[in-house]
Amino acid sequence: MNSGMIRDNLLNIQSTLKEGVRLIAVSKTKPVEDLREAYDAGQRLFGENKALEMRDKHAVLPEDIEWHFIGHLQTNKIKYIAAYVRMIHSIDSLTLLEAVEKEARKHDRVIDCLLQFHIATEETKFGLNMEEARALLESAEYAAMEHVRIVGVMGMATNTTDRELVRKEFRMLREYKEQLAEQYFKGRDDFKEISMGMSHDYDIAMEEGSTMVRVGSSIFGARNYGIPVNDEK
Ligand SMILES: *Cc1c(COP(=O)(O)O)cnc(C)c1O
Repeated sequence: MNSGMIRDNLLNIQSTLKEGVRLIAVSKTKPVEDLREAYDAGQRLFGENKALEMRDKHAVLPEDIEWHFIGHLQTNKIKYIAAYVRMIHSIDSLTLLEAVEKEARKHDRVIDCLLQFHIATEETKFGLNMEEARALLESAEYAAMEHVRIVGVMGMATNTTDRELVRKEFRMLREYKEQLAEQYFKGRDDFKEISMGMSHDYDIAMEEGSTMVRVGSSIFGARNYGIPVNDEK
């Protein structure tokens, strides 16, 4: 993007955020210089969806960045991010959570995690349903974990221009969160995050109670998936 564009986009989006909503700048596929421009404009929360790409960017960017992992995470890639990742938004199985626990323990850390729910009508997206989430939260394996902390939920709405459908899906995610809070996190104030909303729908997400919006293309411009990001080793 042209010099200054990322800064302008960021400041513009920041001015539309509701109180209490944090902005995660989704920088996947974008070069380090673009992240640097956002950083220099004051942005500190960045979202990536490939472990090796996050590792490479983390290695060269300032230490006070909060790295949020927002993509489908393979268990054999956790080791590339476990030492520093601030939050993993995409826990969609007990197996994955167990693998995060194991890697976090090696670094003597507690990693904040979100349960990702399947709220879209599209089949292709990842995520749990309520029954699966309950089974995870009621499992003996989860009860024994000391290096992960579940702090909320995440979801992606259907990619559609039907804004009422999107609103319904976000509302459903918020209801899931409230049910889980009541059933499994009573008396705890750390289960509070709802990660929902992207460039085209974060306004609706905020109206429906989002606490973290994940915005990419409206900040950094359209992504070019023609450039391989070299994460498949
Ligand atoms: C890419 C991505 C985003 C950002 O999408 P934009 O439409 O570019 O804002 C948000 N969340 C997840 C999980 C993503 O993969």
